[in-house]
Formats: sequence, C-alpha cells, structure tokens
Amino acid sequence: MGMTYIPTTLSEALHLRAEKKARPLAGGSDLMVQSRRGTALAPEFPFPVMIITSIPELKGIKLGDDGSVEIGALTTPAEIASSSIVPWHVREAASGMGAIALRNTATIGGNIGNASPKGDLPQPLILLDAEVVLSSIHGDRKMLLDDFILGSKKTALGEDEVIKSVVIPKHDFTYLFYRKIGMRRANAISKLSLSAAAVVKDGEILDFRAASGAAGPKVIRSREAEAILKGHMIDEIPELEEKFLDAWNDAISPHAMPLYRRNTTRRMLSYFLSAINTGAEEGIIREEE
Ligand SMILES: Cc1cc2nc3c(=O)[nH]c(=O)nc-3n(C[C@H](O)[C@H](O)[C@H](O)COP(=O)(O)OP(=O)(O)OC[C@H]3O[C@@H](n4cnc5c(N)ncnc54)[C@H](O)[C@@H]3O)c2cc1C
Repeated sequence: MGMTYIPTTLSEALHLRAEKKARPLAGGSDLMVQSRRGTALAPEFPFPVMIITSIPELKGIKLGDDGSVEIGALTTPAEIASSSIVPWHVREAASGMGAIALRNTATIGGNIGNASPKGDLPQPLILLDAEVVLSSIHGDRKMLLDDFILGSKKTALGEDEVIKSVVIPKHDFTYLFYRKIGMRRANAISKLSLSAAAVVKDGEILDFRAASGAAGPKVIRSREAEAILKGHMIDEIPELEEKFLDAWNDAISPHAMPLYRRNTTRRMLSYFLSAINTGAEEGIIREEE
C-alpha cells in the first residue's frame, strides 16, 4: 500500500509529485472507485497518493482581461453549473453530470485527468479550444486540451505535473447546441453527447464547430468537416449538408461509432444546421426529447 500525503500548498504538492511520484486525489469519485476493496473497507492504493483538496491555488473561477475564463482544477460541476461567467456549453455539461452528491464532490481536474471517453466536461471544452495549465516544480506549461487527452484514459500529464486549471478563450456564438444522451437522468454516464456552435453574420457562417463525446477513444472534433461550412452563406447549407455529415462520419473510426451513434449524431447535427438555415432566433437551439 502506498503512502498518503495531504499537501496544503501547490508548491508542497509539486514537490511531493516530483520526489514521491504521489498521484493526485481530488474528489476521489474515479480513483476511489477504481481502488475499492469491498463494502465498509477503505480503498487501498498500490501507489503513493496526495489528497489535493485543500490547495487554494487550484480553486476558483476567474475572468481574464481578454474575456477568457480560468477554472481551477478543484472546481466542482455544481460550482461550474452555477457560475454566470462559465461559457454555456460547459455549464450545460456540468449540470448534467451524475447526481447532486457527485456534482458536489467530483472536480474538473479529475474529469480531465481520468480522460474517460465518457467524461462529460472534455467534450464542450474541446469544442471551445480550451487549454489546460500544467504545473511542476519547473514552472507552468499550457496546451490545448485536445492535445492533452491522447486517448481513452491516456493523457500527456508529466510524472511531475499537476493539472492547475483550464482556460477557455472568449467566444460570441450566434447559435449554440448541447445534448447528452444517457440511460436516465441521475447518475447516467453518457452514451453519446454532442455540442455544436456557429457564428453567423449577415447570413455568412464565419465559424462552425462540433464535438462528439462518448463516441470514440477521445472527443471527436473534425476541423476538415468544419471547413466545409465555414465561409459559406446559410442559404448554401442544404447543398453542403450531406458533404459535411459525410466528412464528420469519416472522421470517426467505424468500430467506435456503431450505426445508432452515427445516425443519432447525424440527426442532431442536421437539426442544428436546419435551424441555422431557416433563420432560427439567435441563441440556444434545443432539440425536443
Ligand atoms: C456514481 C458515479 C457517477 C458518475 N457520473 C459521471 C457523469 O455523469 N459524468 C462524468 O463525466 N463522470 C461521471 N463519473 C466519473 C467521475 O465522477 C468524474 O470523472 C469526476 O469528474 C472525477 O473527478 P474527481 O475529482 O472525483 O477525480 P479523482 O477520482 O480524484 O481523480 C481522477 C483521476 O484524475 C487525476 N487527477 C485528479 N485531479 C488532478 C489534478 N489536479 N492534476 C492531475 N491529475 C489529477 C487522479 O490522479 C485520477 O487519475 C461518475 C462517477 C461515479 C462514481
């Protein structure tokens, strides 16, 4: 059984990480479950662990001068869902995570660190080109979350690093879409999720993006497919739609996306596109359940 440490500052945690290779434990909702031994028995970890929940540097949500939003690694889904400065897609995903007890204990750092293809937060964050800030005793580095998550349960986290925060750049979308399809409302792990967003000005699609969750080893974003719509007029959507949807499907490996997921994703994207094409009122596009 590994040692357990409880650092109270980031510097202390980074030294423990570098010198003892201690693994961060935040809400514990993934790590404790993975290391459980049975009813009424405390989990045992075969590696050193550091409980990071009392580190102030990893807490809080801040608005930057450039309009970006920085979310500390220890922020819970409940805090994210109730923040007025966090972008809408991320709030939607956070408010649909697990049941209320989980939303108050899980953390954004843990959701990213765990890198489960079914994790709810990476999907909207990758849509928004969010970056992850990684700290070590040598300083901080920043990288796109899309690059940080390498695959199912695989990240680029260095052996001496801790996730400090996530930074979401400012966006002003004309249309926004988010949908998580789960088995039931409470504690439903995503079976499939999709977010999409567009910037439309004077009938021109200046930006279009989409991200699929729980549809492959990691979140799927296809810049090639997005480029098919960007720069075109909304009137051209009907003639571009099939090409776009086919390119989106091509970006998805066939075995990771059985027909049901593929068809459901096509239907959701098509619903969003037709709302834009028919000049829907600006804002959130909601698909009836
Ligand atoms: C009943 C139940 C329901 C769930 N429902 C959902 C759901 O609806 N949606 C969903 O997305 N997930 C769900 N989960 C999974 C889990 O709750 C989330 O992934 C959660 O965000 C993990 O956060 P945590 O703080 O509890 O992680 P922890 O268990 O503390 O850590 C998870 C991993 O991340 C690493 N880590 C944590 N913090 C950091 C950090 N700051 N820097 C570097 N590495 C770090 C840990 O070392 C570990 O490898 C559910 C889990 C349970 C048990």
